[in-house]
Amino acid sequence: MSKENKQVLLSRQPEGQPKASDFEISEQEIPSPRQGEFLVKNIYLSLDPYMRGAIAGRHMGHSRLNQVDLIRGRCVGKVIKSKNSEFNEGDFLVIESGWQEYALASGVESEEIRKLNIENGPLSASLGILGMPGLTAWAGVEQLAKPNLGSTFVVTAAAGPVGGTAGQLAKVKGCRVVGVAGTDEKCSIVVDKYGFDDCINYNNKDWLDRLSKACPDGIDVYFDNVGGEVLDQITDGLNLYGKIIMCGLVSQYNIDAKSEGGWKGHNLGRFVGKRASLLGLVVYDYYEQINDFLKVAVPLLKSGKLSYHEDVVDGIEQAPEHFSKLMAGNNVGKAVVSVSSEK
Ligand code: NDP
Repeated sequence: MSKENKQVLLSRQPEGQPKASDFEISEQEIPSPRQGEFLVKNIYLSLDPYMRGAIAGRHMGHSRLNQVDLIRGRCVGKVIKSKNSEFNEGDFLVIESGWQEYALASGVESEEIRKLNIENGPLSASLGILGMPGLTAWAGVEQLAKPNLGSTFVVTAAAGPVGGTAGQLAKVKGCRVVGVAGTDEKCSIVVDKYGFDDCINYNNKDWLDRLSKACPDGIDVYFDNVGGEVLDQITDGLNLYGKIIMCGLVSQYNIDAKSEGGWKGHNLGRFVGKRASLLGLVVYDYYEQINDFLKVAVPLLKSGKLSYHEDVVDGIEQAPEHFSKLMAGNNVGKAVVSVSSEK
């Protein structure tokens, strides 16, 4: 094969907030599979906040990327040529194939390559509500928080795939669910589309008063996606012996902790005073349970009890700008790049 495969490579390590100019587009020949290999045409690329740390070598053992390295990332793709008996032409996969249009792969099903049942839902949902972010939300709610009927459950980044799904799963369990998000538009999605009881825009000066009014019985579970000052402020409203699910620290990802002005950390006395349980969540621990999660999530999605919102752009060339938007917190819903129309 000789057509071109567009790839997104690192041009320079981002400093602070990533910019599109930190990346470059390159074109390579589309590779042909050799014995044991198969060729995947990517359809959707997932953009996720963890990638900021992964590029810098600050995420769960990922090595720091160098100039012209391919950016790593998860895609939904279709096998279009195969010399591997495990994967047939026409199979749909979620695959760690990087920011590129085509990927050569080999091996068997694993955490990095998972076959998709296309009856489960739209293909892109397997990167969001039915994929890694959804599994994260499910693990946080079902395995860690285990909220009681009538508990008050608060979640930040509530319009996003993790926060939005976590809140909806808590709602299914009979909680009072209050989201926190950065704009009125996001809050409308959270209440009108996801069905939360309320959503507070933390960019309003009186947001903590509003949050307190929205949680008249205090907060039993806080599902934290942002860290930083917001974590401290919401903890002040936590009930004694409340739980905090430590899921994400997105407000800190653009900060180099070692640099001047870097993250100063929390006053831990706050957590002690609340006798809080802080439960760290790493989605990789739950990959083996993905089918248990899908057994719950797919029927809920099909019956309309789970909804999602996507922020989609067309073309792999748009991935750097879209990633910059995500890391500025300006995405509205799951950040996805539509790479090709092969469906
Ligand atoms: P989202 O699509 O929700 O995007 C991130 C959102 O974070 C933004 O839209 C923004 O929403 C909010 N945000 C708050 N402060 C900042 C800031 N300073 N800079 C940028 N964004 C900010 O992301 P996901 O749903 O994919 O992920 C949510 C969190 O869950 C992240 O922290 C992520 O790293 C974490 N995560 C953790 C996993 C684990 O295993 N523990 C697995 C997967 C995700 P708003 O304007 O509403 O504040």
